[in-house]
Amino acid sequence: MFKNFFLLLAIITINSCDSSIANEVQPMQSNSPRAKNIILLIGDGMGVSQITAGLYANGNHLEIERFKHMGLVKCHSSNNLITDSAASGTAFATGIKTFNGAVGVNPNREPVKNIVEYAEEKGLATGLVVTSQMAHATPAAFFGHHHKRSLMEDIAAQLLDQDIDLLIGGGQNHFENRKDNQNISKKLRKKGYQVHSFMDKALTEIEADPQQNLLYFTAAGLPLPKHQGRDYLPFAMDFSIDFLQKKSKKGFFLMVEGSQIDLGGHAKNSDFIISEMLEFDEIVGKALDFAEEDGNTLVILGADHETGGYAINYGSTEDNFKAGFTSDYHTATMVPIFAYGPGAEDFTGIFDNTQVFFKMMDAYGWNVD
Ligand code: MG
Ligand code: ZN
Repeated sequence: MFKNFFLLLAIITINSCDSSIANEVQPMQSNSPRAKNIILLIGDGMGVSQITAGLYANGNHLEIERFKHMGLVKCHSSNNLITDSAASGTAFATGIKTFNGAVGVNPNREPVKNIVEYAEEKGLATGLVVTSQMAHATPAAFFGHHHKRSLMEDIAAQLLDQDIDLLIGGGQNHFENRKDNQNISKKLRKKGYQVHSFMDKALTEIEADPQQNLLYFTAAGLPLPKHQGRDYLPFAMDFSIDFLQKKSKKGFFLMVEGSQIDLGGHAKNSDFIISEMLEFDEIVGKALDFAEEDGNTLVILGADHETGGYAINYGSTEDNFKAGFTSDYHTATMVPIFAYGPGAEDFTGIFDNTQVFFKMMDAYGWNVD
């Protein structure tokens, strides 16, 4: 009797695993192209409460409210109910469910082609703009292929294998102050990149040559939080759209990460979350302004996971509110996703984070290799 029960349990478990994996990796049918450009905005650690806090802290208004299509995303990784940014970023970038700590590789540690690599192959201009280090998990998922996110110097060197038109973010040390004494920036210059840094020139003073790729470092390590003076993201957003449009007539793919919403959650600091959230909302407004005028641009706003188990517990819409945290790490709660423009209607309902990749491929009208 017991033996049969356990056998039955084993069969049910195996079957449910099989069906969930099949469901996660199944690509969508490809249609004719709809979007020329995609702007993918990722709020790291941006759950519904983070957005709500930003909303009420800003007089009951956010640019995010301009989206009309929205859904919910399941964000577990291949080996954990609680994902990290590496596995979740990889799901967005490649459509593959992988293990925590892995960027751009599948559970067998094999490299998987990402959306930026597809875009480069198709002749589109590509850009990654972040408020963390350039080789940090989220951006790394869009250019790197490594089983261990913490080996950031190794991941930084993988940029040499790519041809990304525009990179703006921190972490200059991973390129120029390394254990192996290589100078990756120098090697990128040899490959035809313009490499600049906050140490020699402000981003606002860069006269970028659209014939060349551009890498701009905003910090030696992690850029400052917004409330401690970081201020480059709004300018970087305008700059990037302008630069990428000059780079290719065929269109562009741009990923912009509000990297530090997550850090506010880890620090259990509501004010930190709100200041990062409001800056990121300004970026959302800029993306939507461009997309409205352009007409061929799909804007997606998503999150890799929620951080902090953050909740708004009491207060009023006019006064301050009191928030609480259930964790100093990520949680498994589903995260919201929003879309505007051609293909936006695909981003409604509840779906797995891997589907974001297939929905973007579908909007571009591209088939998965
Ligand atoms: Mg991140
Ligand atoms: Zn985190």
